[in-house]
Amino acid sequence: MNKYIKGYKCTICGEFFTPEQATLTCPKCGEKGILDVVYDYDELKKVLTKEYFANNKNYSMWRYAPIMGIEDTHIDEMLRVGWTPLYHARNLEKELGVKRLYVKDDGLNPSGSSKDRASGVAVLKAIEAGAKVIACSSTGNAASSCACQAAHMGLKAVIFVPKRAPIGKATQICLYGATLVKVDGDYKVAFKLSKEAIDKYGWYNRNAAINPYMVEGKKTVSMEIAEQLNFEPTDWVAVSVGDGCTVGGVYKGFAEFFKLGLIKRIPKILGVQSTGCAPFVISSQTGEPLKEADENTLADSIAVGIPRNPMKAINAVKLSKGAWVAVPDEEIIKAMSLLGRTEGIFGEPAGVAAIAGIKKAVEEGIISPNETVTTIVTGNGLKDPVNGQKAVSMPEPMEANLEILDKFLKEKGAI
Ligand SMILES: *Cc1c(COP(=O)(O)O)cnc(C)c1O
Ligand SMILES: [Zn+2]
Repeated sequence: MNKYIKGYKCTICGEFFTPEQATLTCPKCGEKGILDVVYDYDELKKVLTKEYFANNKNYSMWRYAPIMGIEDTHIDEMLRVGWTPLYHARNLEKELGVKRLYVKDDGLNPSGSSKDRASGVAVLKAIEAGAKVIACSSTGNAASSCACQAAHMGLKAVIFVPKRAPIGKATQICLYGATLVKVDGDYKVAFKLSKEAIDKYGWYNRNAAINPYMVEGKKTVSMEIAEQLNFEPTDWVAVSVGDGCTVGGVYKGFAEFFKLGLIKRIPKILGVQSTGCAPFVISSQTGEPLKEADENTLADSIAVGIPRNPMKAINAVKLSKGAWVAVPDEEIIKAMSLLGRTEGIFGEPAGVAAIAGIKKAVEEGIISPNETVTTIVTGNGLKDPVNGQKAVSMPEPMEANLEILDKFLKEKGAI
């Protein structure tokens, strides 16, 4: 057990549980009672100082091990997750009309998405628990990252995905040697089957939200952003939202650095969804509780009709005084080519949705032109080249002839 963990707090009823009492979710609230890991921040404050980070040579998310709820016995054997680059996006910031824009390219993680941050922690926790098999259901990225990290540590993985999971992600899962269960249904159906199977076979459960440690991995993205910006994060951080674990983690990372006295303020969080599947945005507009939504977007990683981590996501936006926006798929596709053309970064649809969200937030006056923004590209575009093709116009094969080439180049404005 990580010595700084005090216990777990239920995100619904607020009840506190000691490590000895803890199960995966709150015993009172059941499956909806997602827990939040609570640390002894007074003790951590003595350890996690600016000097500690300045002298820390571990350039991966594992540099935050004391505050990730893990033991440090196996971290040296793990894949290198995190410490992804944060770029000043000089070209894109002009297009979006904000004072300064940073892009955190989390698509450069081992399996190509932010999910590696959570899966790395999951695999470590599975090893700590003595498990031999780890299981999860996901829209694709949590699945492929779980298979990836499990392979590296010699664990077996059983992975459930909806039938529409992009071929790139499904291929990754098989290639990493996991057992792929491709469910004839959507994410909701895949999630339910995985839950029943996990209960039946007793596998280690990496399901988003249900496992409170997933956010402990996800939050490291904010800690990195804070460090990379010399402990002065931007006014806003924009991120796309499906289940809500990522945005919950983004908030928690900043909130904990604030508690530890490492940053002076918490950025406002812009939660972005696709209009085709926007339960959080709709609930924020109507003031009504979350309602199940259709999963009608090509941004498969945020096609989540029943978000599994609602409270952490809602609180992230509320407590940071941020905002929710929804953007149509056409704008997400445009953001893919915009990011590629202006910054040389290829994101998958859900990975760039937040960029379309920034554009909308600026248009609506939510983000002002003199504010600074960081966006997290949560997934690599090579995972989903089929949707990537919608963002480009692919030329037909051309006869190998210099005159025809000349005409073509003129048409394209290349000469
Ligand atoms: C999972 C994922 C998200 C959203 O994260 P949630 O925790 O489901 O809200 C966004 N983008 C990508 C690429 C993802 O894989
Ligand atoms: Zn509870």
